[in-house]
Amino acid sequence: MSERVAIVGAGLTGSLLACFLARRGVRVTLYERRPDPRTGQAERGRSINLAISERGLDALRRIDLVDQVMADALPMKGRMIHPVEGPLDFQPYSATRDRAINSISRGALNNALLDAAAKAPGVDVVFEHRLVGLDSQAGALVFDTPAGRVETTADVVLGADGAGSAVRGQLLAESALTEDVDFLDYGYKELSIPARDGEFALDPGALHIWPRGTSMMIALPNPDRSFTCTLFWPAGSFDALTTPASIERYFAEHYPDLLPMAPGLVEDYLNNPVGVLGTVHASPWQAHGRTALIGDAAHAIVPFYGQGANCAFEDVVELDRCLDATGGSWARSLPLFEARRRENTEAIAEMALANFVEMRDKVASPVFRLGKQIEHT
Ligand code: FAD
Repeated sequence: MSERVAIVGAGLTGSLLACFLARRGVRVTLYERRPDPRTGQAERGRSINLAISERGLDALRRIDLVDQVMADALPMKGRMIHPVEGPLDFQPYSATRDRAINSISRGALNNALLDAAAKAPGVDVVFEHRLVGLDSQAGALVFDTPAGRVETTADVVLGADGAGSAVRGQLLAESALTEDVDFLDYGYKELSIPARDGEFALDPGALHIWPRGTSMMIALPNPDRSFTCTLFWPAGSFDALTTPASIERYFAEHYPDLLPMAPGLVEDYLNNPVGVLGTVHASPWQAHGRTALIGDAAHAIVPFYGQGANCAFEDVVELDRCLDATGGSWARSLPLFEARRRENTEAIAEMALANFVEMRDKVASPVFRLGKQIEHT
């Protein structure tokens, strides 16, 4: 293959994709709007950790990165329910308790993928390049950089630039696709539970859930023995708590076991941003057989199944299979990729929305628990 491929976005999808294409001998330039994350601080307020499951691990295995990534992973074998009052309730994910999802650092995963991409033959990684213009038919790209505007061309352009994709925006402006973004009327905010006397303050072998009917909090363990909590609340409700006293009073009433474990609660609450959540529907995902969307740029979902990144990793494996199936023809691979993936991504988008109701409400009900026990026998 002698095509030059431009990948826009060096997040999880773009970096992994660069690794896969390099193995095929494709020349890739990976453009990222941010500075190199390996040399700086993680963005505050983006999810710090992720649950990676078998779907994502399969892709990492194919580029020999699974051992490195899994070295710091924390397996979570079930969910631990925290009621307002009463004992904790552990609900295993599998009857034999041998299956787990894995909590890993988003930053460490992204850095490992970026390192692998940067080392791969034929891959150039360019930071501080924000895509601001695209002619999808001509393969012409325009970037804003600290040195001013940069114009370039590529034979193939792949938009791996996330839920708010600029590539998707450009295709929309060209009327090359239609899009529908369903924002959820909920936002999210992260809090932290630090290590206590050098140890985890909660069981690190579980994904912790505080179901509260119309809202919830979850917590995943980190390798430094802290936990990152994420509140999922109706969007406007975060603004109702504005003073340290009101925050402490609210958490004492609704999340009483959190208060003694989270000494920085008030500071986190007041300083951490509220993130938006939504589902992206776009159609088609490709134009002219040379420009396409992949990962969140094509089909971002709400995070309640912990499958967005896993699903994006499956995209990369499937695109690679399509290139195999078509003898490396991009013009045939891009429509084939969409035909093979769309049904699956639409299914997980629906399941992710349904799982929000399960996590925030049903997991706390005795009827649900009985149902789960029957399912597992
Ligand atoms: P992104 O991670 O958004 O990366 C896009 C990249 O493109 C970024 O580096 C960005 O800087 C760059 N970019 C954007 N615009 C431009 C531009 N104009 N020019 C150049 N570069 C650009 N998934 C899971 O599998 N498990 C989980 O447990 C999980 N938990 C989550 C929790 C939360 C709160 C959220 C919000 C999401 C969660 N997800 C989870 C989903 C997961 O984060 C995404 O599916 C995943 O990050 C998608 O990767 P991506 O590379 O496609 O997009």
